[in-house]
Amino acid sequence: MQINLTNIFENDENFAKIQKTIIINKIQFGNATAYFQDNITVNLELEKIANNQILLDGLVKAILVINCDRCNEPTKYHLEADFSKEVSVNKVGEYEEAFIEGYNLDLEKLALNEIFVNFPMKVLCNEECKGICTTCGTNLNVDNCNCENDNVDLRFAGLKALFDENFKEV
Ligand SMILES: [Zn+2]
Ligand SMILES: [Zn+2]
Repeated sequence: MQINLTNIFENDENFAKIQKTIIINKIQFGNATAYFQDNITVNLELEKIANNQILLDGLVKAILVINCDRCNEPTKYHLEADFSKEVSVNKVGEYEEAFIEGYNLDLEKLALNEIFVNFPMKVLCNEECKGICTTCGTNLNVDNCNCENDNVDLRFAGLKALFDENFKEV
């Protein structure tokens, strides 16, 4: 979705408020695929602060559906990205930001940029998520299994790995 900024740059309109929703199905972030539940909302305030320079204040809100880091179940994550940036559009052909081209602002590019910057490193369905049995694959939040192995709470997995490593060396 392109927002034309001609009015704010060329005319006397020094301020504009934009509220839009955009639809993006999914994004890829490293190995993670995130789906969007509902539309992404973008609130934008544009203020001309100098000739050919505007201040962009914005808020991007999206509900991401990402697999839980421990149990792999799809999990909702509410992402809110607050930003404020100055944008210059001075020389034709030279744009400071990829989301501005000429007097057009590309709302999808702007929103995706903010979503990537604020993308969660790790999403858990629940702080207490028990994860998956590494032997049989049972989701331990839903069921127990009879594996006689180290069904170690994943919070301690790091410690256990350390222990195993030391044990091997003996
Ligand atoms: Zn989980
Ligand atoms: Zn098991």
